[in-house]
Amino acid sequence: MARVAVVTGGTRGIGRAICESLREEGFTVVANYAGNEEKARAFTDETGIAAYKFDVGSFEDAQAGCQKIADEVGPIDVLVNNAGITRDGTLAKMSQEDWDDVMRVNLGGCFNMAKACFDHMKSQKWGRIVNIGSINGQAGQYGQVNYAAAKSGIHGFTKALAQEGARYGITVNAIAPGYIDTDMVAAVPDTVLEKIVAQIPVGRLGRAEEIARGVRFLASEDGAFITGSTLSINGGQHMY
Ligand code: NDP
Repeated sequence: MARVAVVTGGTRGIGRAICESLREEGFTVVANYAGNEEKARAFTDETGIAAYKFDVGSFEDAQAGCQKIADEVGPIDVLVNNAGITRDGTLAKMSQEDWDDVMRVNLGGCFNMAKACFDHMKSQKWGRIVNIGSINGQAGQYGQVNYAAAKSGIHGFTKALAQEGARYGITVNAIAPGYIDTDMVAAVPDTVLEKIVAQIPVGRLGRAEEIARGVRFLASEDGAFITGSTLSINGGQHMY
């Protein structure tokens, strides 16, 4: 039977490309999303991949959502923690809510989902967890203390959990994308984006598929000896 892969925030952007790529690899893929029904419907209509709505930032919702997936599709063998949000602003303008929301979804979501999946992976002595970090978690970014802290936290979370999973055949890795052409980047003002592109040595934004191929590799059998690593896919913008 095909292994089951869950991609949080899988109905659009980078997550959608990851879903399609993992399906090509032979996994039974399930997406999760937060509440954009229009995008979720279009995703399922166009790909035939099921989408489950729950908030990864809520511990209870994540446990219940993963249990539903396990009951209806099968226990989760591959977890891709891709769901993420931004609430940008300088420290002076950032509210406590902006800080909490980003930490809760981007970093808390990784913990909540891993808690729901890890026991099964341990019991079968095989699992793959890929966490989507960010170049801005590696290098920092003006106006993003919340996002940079959460993404940087993901890189630490990855290395710590990799040590716990190794003896059970569970690999835990991160991908740190640079600027990728998705809705998230479309929200960046044109003038700011022009300056960002000027800093990317390859001279363009990345494509969602270019991140998805990295996830697919780490989730495949070929990735069995890679754990605790961070793969930077950023067009040379930050060489870490
Ligand atoms: P998008 O904004 O295009 O999509 C975000 C996805 O996450 C959507 O499916 C959204 O669901 C889902 N989501 C948001 N909050 C939650 C939540 N609380 N629970 C469940 N799902 C949620 O993002 P991108 O594709 O651009 O980014 C994907 C990941 O890559 C993120 O973690 C992001 O931080 C990271 N990243 C992106 C970069 C970029 O340049 N685009 C650069 C570096 C990292 P819904 O549609 O229902 O809202």
